[in-house]
Amino acid sequence: MNHPRAITFELITSTALFSHGSNPKGDAEVRAPPFEALARYFFRALVGDRLSAPCGGATATCTCLRCEEGRVFGSADHGKSVALVVEGNASNRGTCNLLPHQNSSPSSAVVPEQELFLQLMPALPTTRDENLKAAGATLLVGLLLGGIGQRSRRGAGSLRIKSLKGPIGIDISAFQQASSVKDYAKALETVLRDAKNMALASVCPLPHQAAGGTFPMLTKKSAGIMLMEFDAKSESDARAEVMFKLRRHKNAAFGLPYLKPAQGDNEKRGRHASPLWIRLAPFHKRWLATLTVMKSGTLAGNPGKLDKYLDDIHTRHGGISVAIP
Ligand SMILES: [Zn+2]
Repeated sequence: MNHPRAITFELITSTALFSHGSNPKGDAEVRAPPFEALARYFFRALVGDRLSAPCGGATATCTCLRCEEGRVFGSADHGKSVALVVEGNASNRGTCNLLPHQNSSPSSAVVPEQELFLQLMPALPTTRDENLKAAGATLLVGLLLGGIGQRSRRGAGSLRIKSLKGPIGIDISAFQQASSVKDYAKALETVLRDAKNMALASVCPLPHQAAGGTFPMLTKKSAGIMLMEFDAKSESDARAEVMFKLRRHKNAAFGLPYLKPAQGDNEKRGRHASPLWIRLAPFHKRWLATLTVMKSGTLAGNPGKLDKYLDDIHTRHGGISVAIP
């Protein structure tokens, strides 16, 4: 199992992880596909503005977003490029409240403070180091800004990184040493910049930014990140607290916005995932929320309300903003 080129993430669940296999009513379990989906999502978010719009049919030389993503992670045409393996997922299940702000009935979950190992390995001897590093870097960003499973955009399924080993070329020790939110913000800024450079190094980027994409992008122009430190007695209290703070910002842009309809089309279709990710972690006996807003060209509602929400977290709750590379 110890591949010489493996990148290993040692992870701890910070909040309840509501991840299920093929049977949504079955017990919670941790599998590799949600982690790969998270890494692909943040790959698009980090480099999508530097690649051309996805092409219709892949060719060996095409450098569009879809083809480049396929080279890094694998595609139907090329097969798998990187393999992701999860270990240590058994026996740590229990029940947790999926919607603690509404006192819902408990659901099967992997409970907090469980250890997991994620290994990222080349699937083929020909897998390029650049691609493996890009996959590792974008997975790292996904774990720092997002999570996996149900309600992962609202603080569930958050994992923190205990160690990161292997040839990834990104140092995360600044996170472990951060004693203040300001230090944490600096560490996050550095990692986002390094991860973006690593992802860009694996593709053939356009000389200029592409026009607005249809997917969320982590760019200065379209995204904002805010860190908020707060008190909570437990992980479910922490998840409830971030929902209470969202209440005064009720708006279609947060809940279940729809894709912007074409002109003359009055039907609401194409539900859009929330543009806000809330990632939670314990932080020196308090909790730290990483709030990431990523707008896309197809976002309906009033995107200005998303900026107002982050401003509010800054002015009312002492939120510290994180520079986006
Ligand atoms: Zn293409």
